[in-house]
Amino acid sequence: MAFLVILLCFGLAGGVVGRIKGSSFFIWFLVSFCIPFIGLACALLYRWDNDELRRECPGCGKVVKLHDAICTSCGTELDFPETAIASEAQVHAARAERAAAARAHAEQR
Ligand SMILES: [Zn+2]
Repeated sequence: MAFLVILLCFGLAGGVVGRIKGSSFFIWFLVSFCIPFIGLACALLYRWDNDELRRECPGCGKVVKLHDAICTSCGTELDFPETAIASEAQVHAARAERAAAARAHAEQR
């Protein structure tokens, strides 16, 4: 019983780490739950999906990761694009910067 609790803790930790990195909570919960230690280590070492550049699928217009070879929505095979869309992390950073600038501007008045 105690072992199951430990597994659940590993699952939750792995899931949260995966979620923070912009990946699926459920997948990393399962991985960390089934293979504790190693699963959690994998979640920690996994690439930051939020930092990945993105592009638009020519078939359905869904925004997918740059490294995806097949659209997850419509299954179109994707060539490596010439133009990429800024990653989610970059968009967030730019938005935060604009908000800070607007705040500074408002305080000057
Ligand atoms: Zn598509």
